[in-house]
Amino acid sequence: MLKTLKGKISVVYLGLVLLVVIIGTISGINLYYLSKTIDGLMIDNYKSIKAVNLMNEEIDNQNNAILTYIYQDRQAGIKQFNQDSSAFYDWYNVEANNITEKNEGKYVEEIKNAYVDFTTSFSSLQEIPVSDNSSMLYYYKTKIKPNFDHIKDLLNGLAQLNETAMFEKKTNATMDAKNSMYAILIITFIAAIFGFIISMVFTNRFLKPMEYLISSIRKVKEGDLDQIISITTDDELGKLATEFNNMIKRLKQYEESQLGKIMDERNKTLSIVKSISDPLLVLNSDYKIILLNSAAEELFGIEEKNAVNKHFLLSVKDEKLFEEINSIVDSNFVNNKIEQIKYSNKYYDVTISPIENYKSEISDILLVFHNITEFKELDQVKDDFISIISHEFKTPLTSIMMGTSIILEEKIGTINEKQKSTLLAIEEEGEKLTELVNELIELTKIESGKEVYNFKCCSMFGIVENTIKPLYNIASDKGVNLSHSVDEDLPCVYADPEKISWVLNNLITNALKYTDAGDDISISASIDNNMMQISVKDTGVGIPKEYKDKIFDKFFHTKNGDDFEIKGTGLGLAVVKEIVEAHGGKVWCESDLDVGSNFMFTLPICH
Ligand code: ADP
Repeated sequence: MLKTLKGKISVVYLGLVLLVVIIGTISGINLYYLSKTIDGLMIDNYKSIKAVNLMNEEIDNQNNAILTYIYQDRQAGIKQFNQDSSAFYDWYNVEANNITEKNEGKYVEEIKNAYVDFTTSFSSLQEIPVSDNSSMLYYYKTKIKPNFDHIKDLLNGLAQLNETAMFEKKTNATMDAKNSMYAILIITFIAAIFGFIISMVFTNRFLKPMEYLISSIRKVKEGDLDQIISITTDDELGKLATEFNNMIKRLKQYEESQLGKIMDERNKTLSIVKSISDPLLVLNSDYKIILLNSAAEELFGIEEKNAVNKHFLLSVKDEKLFEEINSIVDSNFVNNKIEQIKYSNKYYDVTISPIENYKSEISDILLVFHNITEFKELDQVKDDFISIISHEFKTPLTSIMMGTSIILEEKIGTINEKQKSTLLAIEEEGEKLTELVNELIELTKIESGKEVYNFKCCSMFGIVENTIKPLYNIASDKGVNLSHSVDEDLPCVYADPEKISWVLNNLITNALKYTDAGDDISISASIDNNMMQISVKDTGVGIPKEYKDKIFDKFFHTKNGDDFEIKGTGLGLAVVKEIVEAHGGKVWCESDLDVGSNFMFTLPICH
């Protein structure tokens, strides 16, 4: 029974129940003795007092009967005396059988002797002649009356004895009651303390292992899996402790196996990262380097052991790159690529990728530096090639165009209509080729940085007015409504007016190419964020969404269905981009198919 917690608790409760039973029994016994004392008080002494009182009455009656015998009627006196005598004996017997007090027996014995003398003296009185009244009276006074008074004294003494005993018993009963009350109070108090101590001791003994268990569970919750609970009892708590220990063992095994898996995965990831030939860095949210591969060590001339857990800027001393990373992280990785960073004669594109934790929060940032030097070099070769070819094309092309023009003007002889139309076709294609060659030369010049910019503070209003003027006629010939709303009072821009005029011309010419009669082309300018923003907006064919970012690439043309017709060289916007960026501005396009396009670019304003 004591092996289980239930048994132990039951034993404690049984002990407490036993205590209550003991207190109850003691109280019962006390009450029993008390009631017995009261019984004695009520029955024995009361019986004696009653018997004595009645004996008193009877003896008084007998005395009266003697006086009746002397003075009045002898027969009636004798009869009365005898009757009272038997009644006296009845009560005497009651008292004789109810001796409860010390000396009570002595009194009873004396009363008996005195009464015998009393009755004997009455018999002696009857022997005195009837006529001798004075002798009878004398006999009564000297013999019977003293005896009668003696019996009365004895009876009063006996009554007094019983009354005293009764009072004594009452006092005793009161004392007993008080004592019982105190005894019960003391026992109850002791029992309460005892019960309290037992409950406390056992409750503590039962709860201690539980507290131990709770603190162990808490430690396990905090990750300490080395908790072993040493509760060795056979009860439920012991079993719980055993199960708990088993659970911890399993948990530990599981953690070890998971840890092993995680370590494997980590090592795998590390080897993959290390084997990547592109330089790679992983930063935490405080921009401290937490991982880097040997290509990154080599690129930035750092060692892993010195760089890890240090701020990015301490190892990669490139504040511009750091600012760019910061702005990409702040803008929630909207644009996660930084193009063309030059480190020790090599060009890199940097891809910045967020690494999310299990709560989908960005915990780390992955930076991969793609080495684009080879592409850059190839690009350079291509640019050089194009530059050479364009220049090489330019002179013979000029000769061809001049020759064609001379033949067409029939300066060296007449030509027939067929020859003329063929020559006109040659001239048209030659013009296209010339435009291409010119734009190629322009682009390669700008890209190579050979283009000289003549930056100055100039009015945008003036540039727009000058650029738009020659285009009004072409627009009106096409039925397109060309207008501008550039304010004359706008601040000046810091730009090369010729190059910006070229940019505007190109954008307006494009708009004219992709609009029809009835369409509108409007030019406007406003100040935004310390930059001037110029917009060339048309209501023409628009650009499909998928091409919106590609139109600024070299040789790019959109394809609008089957009636697709190449209307230009595909170089104009590439040149526009180069020129605007050389001014420190940006160019972009917003367009909806069949609604129109809005080409915008920014330029710094003069301070
Ligand atoms: P192109 O000399 O061929 O016009 P651009 O570089 O100037 O070359 O333009 C590239 C492409 O962008 C064009 O082929 C055309 O598809 C598209 N484009 C440029 N401007 C507009 C415009 N205003 N409306 C619609 N498409 C345009």
